[in-house]
Amino acid sequence: MLALDIQHVRMNQRAANKAEALQCLVNILVEDQLVTPQYLEGLQAREQQSATYLGQGIAIPHGTPQSRQHILKTGVRLAHFPDGVIWDGENTIYLAIVIAAKSDEHLQVLQILTRALLNDISEQVKIADTQQQLIELLQAQPHSLALHENLIETHVLAEDLDDLLWHSAQCLKQQKMVETGFISALNPQHMIHLGENIWSISANQHVLSPAVSIVKAENTLQYQDKNLQTLICIASNEQLDLIQFNRLMDVLFDPNQQQQLHDQQDAHQIAQLIGAEIIPDWPTRTVILANAHGLHARPSSYLVNICKGLQGEIQVAVDQGQYVSAKSVTRLLSLGCKRGQKLTFIAEPETQAAVQLDQIIEAVKQGLGETVEPIDESNLVQVQQTPVLDFNNDQSDQQNKGIAASSGLAFGPAHVVKARTFQYDRYGHSLKSETEKLDIAIHSVKNSIRQYITKTDIDAIKQIFTAHLEMLEDPDLLQNVHKNLAQNLSAPAAWHEYIESAAKAQEALNDHLLAERAADLRDIGDRVLAVLCGVEEIKEPETPYILIKHDIGPSDVAKLNKDRVAGILTAVGGASAHSAIVARALAIPAVVGAGSSILQIKSHTTVLINGDNGEFVIEPEPNLIDQAIAERQRQQQIRYEAEAQCQHNAITIDGHQVEVAANIGKVQATQQAVERGAEAIGLLRTELVFMQHNSAPDEATQEAEYRIVMNTLAGRPLVVRTLDVGGDKPLPYLPIPEEENPFLGLRGIRLTLRKPELLHQQLTALLKAADDRPLRIMFPMIGRVEEWRSAKAILDDVRIQYPCKNLQVGIMIEVPAAALLAPILAKEVDFFSIGTNDLTQYTMAIDRGHPLLSAEADGLHPSVLLLIDQTVRAAHAHGKWVGICGELAADPKAVPILMGLGVDELSMSSTSIPLVKAQIRQLNYAQSQQLAQKALSCESAFDVRQLVG
Ligand code: PEP
Ligand code: MG
Repeated sequence: MLALDIQHVRMNQRAANKAEALQCLVNILVEDQLVTPQYLEGLQAREQQSATYLGQGIAIPHGTPQSRQHILKTGVRLAHFPDGVIWDGENTIYLAIVIAAKSDEHLQVLQILTRALLNDISEQVKIADTQQQLIELLQAQPHSLALHENLIETHVLAEDLDDLLWHSAQCLKQQKMVETGFISALNPQHMIHLGENIWSISANQHVLSPAVSIVKAENTLQYQDKNLQTLICIASNEQLDLIQFNRLMDVLFDPNQQQQLHDQQDAHQIAQLIGAEIIPDWPTRTVILANAHGLHARPSSYLVNICKGLQGEIQVAVDQGQYVSAKSVTRLLSLGCKRGQKLTFIAEPETQAAVQLDQIIEAVKQGLGETVEPIDESNLVQVQQTPVLDFNNDQSDQQNKGIAASSGLAFGPAHVVKARTFQYDRYGHSLKSETEKLDIAIHSVKNSIRQYITKTDIDAIKQIFTAHLEMLEDPDLLQNVHKNLAQNLSAPAAWHEYIESAAKAQEALNDHLLAERAADLRDIGDRVLAVLCGVEEIKEPETPYILIKHDIGPSDVAKLNKDRVAGILTAVGGASAHSAIVARALAIPAVVGAGSSILQIKSHTTVLINGDNGEFVIEPEPNLIDQAIAERQRQQQIRYEAEAQCQHNAITIDGHQVEVAANIGKVQATQQAVERGAEAIGLLRTELVFMQHNSAPDEATQEAEYRIVMNTLAGRPLVVRTLDVGGDKPLPYLPIPEEENPFLGLRGIRLTLRKPELLHQQLTALLKAADDRPLRIMFPMIGRVEEWRSAKAILDDVRIQYPCKNLQVGIMIEVPAAALLAPILAKEVDFFSIGTNDLTQYTMAIDRGHPLLSAEADGLHPSVLLLIDQTVRAAHAHGKWVGICGELAADPKAVPILMGLGVDELSMSSTSIPLVKAQIRQLNYAQSQQLAQKALSCESAFDVRQLVG
């Protein structure tokens, strides 16, 4: 491939005229053994046929096709003539780029140069005194000025200048030309009156790329005693292309053009008038994207696969946005298209692409390889983009003891996952060798990805890796990396700098979907970088391993392959943090909050963890492993027997029955819960359902999800908790201002009451999905009677339209205030469900995820038991039932006490159900009641645990 290389630039050449210059150039080519001296005739002949002057003081001499016989090797050389050479009568050149190409490879050089020639570089070319300067000039990014039809709006309803300014800025912002803050940089005092009705305003802060928007009001406004109807809003920065800008200004200042602009009401016509880029008049089709997670990597690569084989251009835009090629995964992802947004496809006329347009639309409707829930187009709402919140809790070390987070013994080779560091030189040796290195690295990563794809049976994993493969083959990505290489960067620098800038650009859009793509980009980025820098990739051990990480989020745990991960050991975290809850749900033993020294454990060293007491041993003696195996077998036997009986009711030996239900966070988990003996779903954590979506799921999506649970339950009751966002469960697309104490802040019902439309929508979806099946709805984090009544009022409103025969409405008791007010609340609710995780945290004033203290936040503390007792008595006095849905419900020491306090239902992670049911079947209710009364007068959680034995 022909490219411009710093080593191929000859400075300080002199020639009195063009003939001497051509001779000089041939001498250079001969010296470098690219041509024989006869090539000179070819250069001369070409100059006779057509001028090789390019502009900006640069010529690009090359031989005729007939002279190719004198070429020994394809190549390009640059000669700088500081005194200039008159080239074609009127133009003087300072730089000649002479090409010896056996075929049409010189077109590649032309491609690079034509971009550079968009900038005014003639003076810099003339005075350049280093090779580096010249190469940089030639490879510089062009100056730009976005001026296209999408940036023109007519018939704008504006009452005053403020309205017009807002529309102008908004137009630029929608096209991603400016960012938040641009509008406040627009100062009306600096507006310029261009002519009748036309004004301009400009700003250079918060500009992402120079652009001009034109906004024309429906009615003429008044500003400073003059008419104002058209506002030209200029967003400029140092990349502003002055030539193009001046051309635009010439048009705008011309009274004739002003008149036409004044008369013209059509954006397309105005675009033509001012020479803006117009949306090609190509066959067009639109479709609403119905994929729940938007146009993310997998559907994008599916779409690219359909489009890339088609001859002819095919482009796509979201809503009124800019068009991008539908043949590039990177470009498609940059659209950030969400469910419910409109995709407009255009295809080059009379090509295969145009013929296939309907099939492409159909494929999008069908979900591009994903199952999609049809969208109610009449009910589309704009999704707000909001900043992703960063929650971080660091903590101190503790040797070989962490917090027991998920029961069970596990051992296996350590798989330590931590950030890797890569070292490399910024500049490379030669373009050729760096390009080769990069190609080899990409090739090797692609091979290993292909192996993963063939090895795995899991579709989701296959799809993720296929999307990674597509990314590595994305022409746009490769082209950008090659641009970096052409600037003499080394292969790792060229690769990493582009990947990082692309990832950052995605993140800057503050979009969950694009942030996910940034993570994917960094993932493939690191793999290639690891090969380039010779950093060994830490391979997953072949046998089930102990995953060791700084921290792990609920969604990370949810993604784990249970067959590969025997146990989890983390440096930070608490037992009732949601990540621990997910680990328990997956029945993966886990020890958390073990201190950062665990990250020093060498990969593949054997580690034994005890998820029941929080202990872990590095390189345990063989006898310890034997004991662990024996203990595990004992536990497995107990579990096996309990599982065999799991569909039987939980009735004590003296005939008292307790309902045992399941807590779930994914609708698909219902089936497993039922199989494990759940008599109901006692807690559907709907915020976890929301978290599986990159933007707020709309009513239809929610309804479909809730329906899955109801259908699977086949008549068993479903207790659903309305969104409980906040605390340690931020939702990227639900804005919560940064808070000092998120657990004491805008959380649960406090948040949804401030977003009643969200609550209304969720309740509607629930009632619609219920079809008169037993539905129980409860509100989280109720602390005040007013909160309960406001939430209930919203539900009553929905019930008018969607009546539901088998509905009960209750609240969670997880704020001590609610437990203390239970006698009042019990009159109004149908049931209580006690969330002991939060009730304990708020009663003991210990953050449930606190690395050091959370072990002290024991739900069996008498203060918590007293609140539970008070709640149960108040409920029963009014004939209402009480459940427990916190983690305490599955604690074998707590089961007899909670039952003894009169709790009617215990809801837990479904893996615990068989064991708890088996335990209840061996208990005596009367004795448990006595035990519970004794527990109420204990002085510590320790004493309560001792009491149970
Ligand atoms: C609780 O607080 O006990 C509860 C069940 O809710 P969550 O753990 O989801 O906050
Ligand atoms: Mg809670």
